Amino acid sequence: MPREIPSICAYCAEGCGFSSLVEQGKIASIEYTKDHPVNKGGLCLKGNAALDVITHPDRILSPLVKEEGNTFQETSWDEAVNTIAANFKKIAKKHGPDSLAFLTSSHCTNEEIYLFQKLARVLGTNNIDCPSFHEGNLNIVDLAASLGHASTTNPLSDLANSKCIIISGSNFLENHPIAAYWVFEAKARGATIIYIDHRLPPSLLICDHFLQINPGTHSMLIEGMITHILEKNLFNQQFISEHTSGFETYKKDARKQSLKFTEKISGIPAAKIKEVAELYASSSASSLINCNDFSSQYDYHNGTTTNLSNLALLCGHLGREGTGIIPLLEHNNTQGSYDMGASPSILPGQVNFKDESQNKKIAKGWKVNKLPSKGGISFPEMSKAIKRKKIKALYIMESSPLEDNVYGDQLKHALKGLEFLLVQDLFLTETAKQADIVLPVNCWAEKIGSYTNTERRVQWQSRIINPLNKIIPNWQVMCDVAKKLGFKKQFTFNNPEAILKEINKVIPAYTGISANRVSRTDGLIMPCPTPKHSGTPILYTEHFDTPDGLGKFNTAFYTKKVEKTTQRFPYFLTFGKTPTFHNNVTVSKETSPSTPASAELFVEINSKDAKKIHIQDQSEVKISTKAGSIKATACITEKVLPGVVFVPFLLLSDSGRTSCSLDPRAKFPELNETICQIKESGGNKGEQ
Ligand code: SF4
Repeated sequence: MPREIPSICAYCAEGCGFSSLVEQGKIASIEYTKDHPVNKGGLCLKGNAALDVITHPDRILSPLVKEEGNTFQETSWDEAVNTIAANFKKIAKKHGPDSLAFLTSSHCTNEEIYLFQKLARVLGTNNIDCPSFHEGNLNIVDLAASLGHASTTNPLSDLANSKCIIISGSNFLENHPIAAYWVFEAKARGATIIYIDHRLPPSLLICDHFLQINPGTHSMLIEGMITHILEKNLFNQQFISEHTSGFETYKKDARKQSLKFTEKISGIPAAKIKEVAELYASSSASSLINCNDFSSQYDYHNGTTTNLSNLALLCGHLGREGTGIIPLLEHNNTQGSYDMGASPSILPGQVNFKDESQNKKIAKGWKVNKLPSKGGISFPEMSKAIKRKKIKALYIMESSPLEDNVYGDQLKHALKGLEFLLVQDLFLTETAKQADIVLPVNCWAEKIGSYTNTERRVQWQSRIINPLNKIIPNWQVMCDVAKKLGFKKQFTFNNPEAILKEINKVIPAYTGISANRVSRTDGLIMPCPTPKHSGTPILYTEHFDTPDGLGKFNTAFYTKKVEKTTQRFPYFLTFGKTPTFHNNVTVSKETSPSTPASAELFVEINSKDAKKIHIQDQSEVKISTKAGSIKATACITEKVLPGVVFVPFLLLSDSGRTSCSLDPRAKFPELNETICQIKESGGNKGEQ
């Protein structure tokens, strides 16, 4: 008899559910789960391709060790674990624990990520990070400073209860079709939809108002709305008095910003800014969707998330149905990765490593004397740290930063300077090819564990099929390595359920999450502080989770620092994610119809510009920046404004690089906007 096993899409942070129909130990097909609270049965292209990875011919099936001449030989699991432990021990002893570094992936389970950061920290280092955090995925962090939690405030389905929705910074319809479903639902119920972006959405049907801003000016536009709300006293004084702090100071500062300036910078007429500000402020329930698909790095720098919090606090659109701020994260477990402490400065439970009492509490729970007291090296800083011989050994779990990240070139060069590199992955990625040891991993259908989606919903994935070639799960490998390094007490777990039980003790918001409870179709939305708690779909219904229980107005004003175009480089080059170009190679391979390898790089050029520089639709063009050039197919369109061109994020990061200076707070590369020239080309597409 075929069995239907509840499954969670392993790709993006929406966390859609479906059922895997299993017959004779194999998944025969996907069945749509009509009562799943996120997707109501619907799956996008990537979700529908979920089975492709399981029997993908390129999967690694045995541990590999690098031999002389840069070739890999198969080795036994025992041999591999012994070599890994011996190298970590030798390097840590000789150079100290901070010579070790750890990179994970926000596609791993909570249990895997929790163990991974625990391994780093019991070994004595905070050098643990998640590369995807540095591609704009941490737009949730500023929410913690304003509201208390680094997370979304309301579930996706609650968008349907909203009367006014502002969507900002997102290739929303294409990249978040399931979230878009709930916006369409709201629209069908009469909500007003305001869409802000520099690139036209694929369909204007979704929005009542489309504000095509100049690239990188989201924050400025939100500030303009705030200015108008303050000037016209459209704010919610009662909410501000009862639930917020810092308003008077903020008001004084905010009033210094003029709407004329906003109009000039954003390109949106002041009258339109006033109109949308009034719509947001006056509706009985307004919500804000914030996304990273475009220009996130620059917008992060400019405090977009902080300004969205200020706007919501100003109008009292928090803590109720149909309100809130919904940042759409990228990977299926980005939220969980942050909650589990996969960060050089954040411990499990979103606790700063400098918080002494929490630090001591975790150390006691882990039965170690203390946790490392020094902040770790973040992923973007690792290349330099390796070159300077500070990092000597690197452990990478299910991430391929050489392929899916803007730091690829720098890192590839740096990796050669390591004494030891361990990579665990599904495929022999470009990063894995550099490793001394490569370990295969289980794919989503072979794994057991929990994931936390973008709305804080924790869902449990049971094992659906037995691991191919008896591949040992990541958690077990970590336990084996840790035991060889002398941490038997800390790493004796028999299964992922046991790891979750430890998470229950260490992270209060996960205390009530058990495998049994979150195996049900709707999982549980954390915080879930007790074993009987039914979860917290809407945050801040009574108070904010800041130390004084008040939402905090924080000043974050726009500072223009975009380069000006020149005669040589007359266009603004912008980047973004599209359904066929995403920035994680390993998972992209799982969805074969949309692998980057099979997709063709394109550049969108406004028809007026194309006419001016004599570029035909579908012709081959060369895009040049100060840092390099790449060839692509021209798409003549009205989607982008004159003077702006757009290319998918991933491939340009492979070749035509922009400057990679880092935002000082987020350590994001400021890559979202640079100046470029476009010329017709006669060569092969994709060549530099
Ligand atoms: S929207 Fe995301 S979670 Fe849902 S099916 Fe598509 S990729 Fe999977």
